[in-house]
Amino acid sequence: MKNLPHIVWHREVPVRYECDVAVFGAGIAGVSAALAAALSGARVILVEQFGVVGGNATVGGVAAFCGETRGQGEAFDAIIDGLNAFHAIEPYRPYPEADHRLFNHEILAVVLQELLLRRNVKLLLHTQIVDARVNCGRVTEGIVSGPSGPEALRAKQFIDCTGEAKLVRRAGFETVKGRASDGLQLPMSLMFFVRHVEEKDAHAQVPGGWFEPIRREEDLPMTSIWPNGPRGNAIKIKIPMFDASDTESLTAAEIQARRRMMQVLDYYQRVKKELWLLDHCSPRIGIREGRRIVGEYILTIEDLRAGRTFDDAIARGTYYIDAHKPDDDKRVSVLSKEEAIVPPYQIPFRCLIPKGASNLLAAGRCFSAEHLALASARVMPTCSMMGQAAGIAAALAAKKNCAIPDLDYTEIKKIVCERGANLQV
Ligand SMILES: Cc1cc2nc3c(=O)[nH]c(=O)nc-3n(C[C@H](O)[C@H](O)[C@H](O)COP(=O)(O)OP(=O)(O)OC[C@H]3O[C@@H](n4cnc5c(N)ncnc54)[C@H](O)[C@@H]3O)c2cc1C
Repeated sequence: MKNLPHIVWHREVPVRYECDVAVFGAGIAGVSAALAAALSGARVILVEQFGVVGGNATVGGVAAFCGETRGQGEAFDAIIDGLNAFHAIEPYRPYPEADHRLFNHEILAVVLQELLLRRNVKLLLHTQIVDARVNCGRVTEGIVSGPSGPEALRAKQFIDCTGEAKLVRRAGFETVKGRASDGLQLPMSLMFFVRHVEEKDAHAQVPGGWFEPIRREEDLPMTSIWPNGPRGNAIKIKIPMFDASDTESLTAAEIQARRRMMQVLDYYQRVKKELWLLDHCSPRIGIREGRRIVGEYILTIEDLRAGRTFDDAIARGTYYIDAHKPDDDKRVSVLSKEEAIVPPYQIPFRCLIPKGASNLLAAGRCFSAEHLALASARVMPTCSMMGQAAGIAAALAAKKNCAIPDLDYTEIKKIVCERGANLQV
């Protein structure tokens, strides 16, 4: 962007909102952060760009929790209990006996919203964080833009759970993206859903001449198919080589994903003779990786392999390093099966603090980690644990009126454990 003409843009906006803890992004990390901060007694506002909460889990159609789902902390337990109340999640089985736990993502959106409202979290939907006002390294206001236009949100503490570290970047702190060698990110995937129909109702949905037909199985992109309820399937297709943090690249990814969906659907209807009709497609492509913060500590692949422990541990990862080649649309893992397995490992609180920040945290898939360490820690139970810890810490700092680095990190660890997080490795 350096060579493009630039303009300077000033605008006066009302400070419409004030709270103790402002959370940006209502994915699993942001929801967990907001729930935890509210439980600590903070006045919390949660800002989400879409009209529904849940992020990848709902808007992205990712309807399974990977890794261990017990001992993730009170926020995640509340989510599981809510799904259980609606009979919308598979029974518990420990990891690695069970690799994942399926749930109904439409019900999840309702559960998350109701949990937030029960704790008096103020929700701002259809609202984006677009900028930050910073004074002497301290974020004073977030500039949000929703249907009412740009407005300021003043808070004592800020938590970035946008998945792309958008607030951290706007506030001027360092971020990185992708693998160190070339910046390529873990591939995106599109989730879509088909319903099974009787033979008499089945028909090919894709007219000739719109998309190049796929004729051979080996020409399919990586395609994963599993049951979605008694009469349907969830289908995931891999869409590599795009950049989630670039407007044009993400737009191109969305366009290509829907084209690929029609090609894959056509292949299964026409060549494999499946009695499937397209039911719905996730409104947004699933994004595994965007920008990550550069934190006070960067979680390394060696930390995972060693099952390292930390005095300021606030979360535990259990899942294997699930990294598919970023430059190939086939099912090609970066590591062998043996290399990908890691023992349980801890994540220190410092991974949530952007380097040099005083009242700003980041949680979820934009936390501070090496690319391959993220490939394990990005799963939803672990993102929820990080979110819960960020919410607890931000509420504590707001209550004590102090900067995040002035907190006693062992106190955060203690509260995280009291709230049901199992950090045992
Ligand atoms: C295809 C795919 C399959 C996966 N499979 C699994 C699986 O089976 N099991 C598992 O546990 N994990 C899985 N994962 C990983 C997991 O889904 C994600 O890593 C996790 O959901 C990330 O949660 P998050 O809250 O950090 O980010 P997200 O879920 O991405 O949430 C970020 C939120 O921030 C919002 N946002 C972004 N920018 C702004 C802004 N400017 N203003 C306001 N809001 C904003 C977004 O709309 C979104 O709601 C998968 C991921 C993908 C993409």
